Amino acid sequence: MKIRAAVMTAAKAPLEVADVELDPPRRDEVLVRIEASGICRSDLSYIDGKWPAPLPIVLGHEGAGVVEAVGEGVDPRRVGEPVVLTFSPACGQCRLCLEGRANLCLDAAHGLDSGLLRDGTTRLSRGGERVHHLAYVSSFASHAVVPANGALPIPAGIDPALSCLLGCGVTTGVMSVTRRANVRPGESVAIFACGGVGLSAVLGARLVSAYPVIVVDPLAEKRELALTLGATHALDPSDGDPAEQVRAIVPGGVDVAFEALGRPEVAEQAFRSVRDGGVTVLIGQPPMGVKAGFDVYDLTQFEHTILGSNLGGAVPALHVPQLARLVLADRLELAPLVTHRLPLAAINEAVAITASGEAGRVVVIP
Ligand SMILES: [Zn+2]
Ligand SMILES: [Zn+2]
Repeated sequence: MKIRAAVMTAAKAPLEVADVELDPPRRDEVLVRIEASGICRSDLSYIDGKWPAPLPIVLGHEGAGVVEAVGEGVDPRRVGEPVVLTFSPACGQCRLCLEGRANLCLDAAHGLDSGLLRDGTTRLSRGGERVHHLAYVSSFASHAVVPANGALPIPAGIDPALSCLLGCGVTTGVMSVTRRANVRPGESVAIFACGGVGLSAVLGARLVSAYPVIVVDPLAEKRELALTLGATHALDPSDGDPAEQVRAIVPGGVDVAFEALGRPEVAEQAFRSVRDGGVTVLIGQPPMGVKAGFDVYDLTQFEHTILGSNLGGAVPALHVPQLARLVLADRLELAPLVTHRLPLAAINEAVAITASGEAGRVVVIP
């Protein structure tokens, strides 16, 4: 079938919105009509050339939609099911899946690098030329063929412009707090940077009754938004060393600090704002090769822990539907995160708004 998709043909160049061929789903695959796709900073890392991508490729890894057709071996009753797509459809058999770390599934990681589906081919092509998938998702499109277990069923009745965020940013932010760092009620947290992921971490901190919930961001509007979502204190880094400002609120430092930007100097600030024996969680994705510096003495003498966070350590098939139920029950408020909705035809404008760093989440509607 012919679909509309935003195709990346070269790094540092605009995406081309074009007609693309999409083959029908094969065994253990489903065809999904995309209803909304969030733009994540990782998409920008491919567009900027910071991360390598097999070209040409259809980007987008934060999609929601409805199952339109199923391949061999998939329950035909899934047609019509609302779904969120995941870039980590767990194989269930690799070492990391067996450890309960399906977000790091080795098989899914292979798809991320190759741009191919599990059988080593693509369903996407243009003029006879192979077009690659991004991480089993490729949601900057009207339709996608994905592994059946990468289309996660969610309850009906959620605005797809909100549910799509569960594919990456919201799950990453919320579960970095609730699962990766396992923050307990009454523990103090500081969240550095209030983009989509940082604001989602604020939502996670509210879910588990962390206190205080301190955010650090240079933009006044983002600090305001964080306060409406559950932050209790908002700091402007231009008012002085952010770590010292955090320590003025929580003497000795917070229990857990989160870095949600991907900048080494901000990671170092987060580290310095944590108490002895505390935890720093690094969520923001820098370009490959970036290094940060930490005082090793703090790690050894004071047992300071640094955790990396990929999708908040979530098991997508378990936690995405769980978070979706919280959204439906008005316990997880996502609407304020979405500051822009644009049509797929305006994808380059949507990318530029995301790159400006001034938006919350920008969602593309095919
Ligand atoms: Zn992402
Ligand atoms: Zn696996």
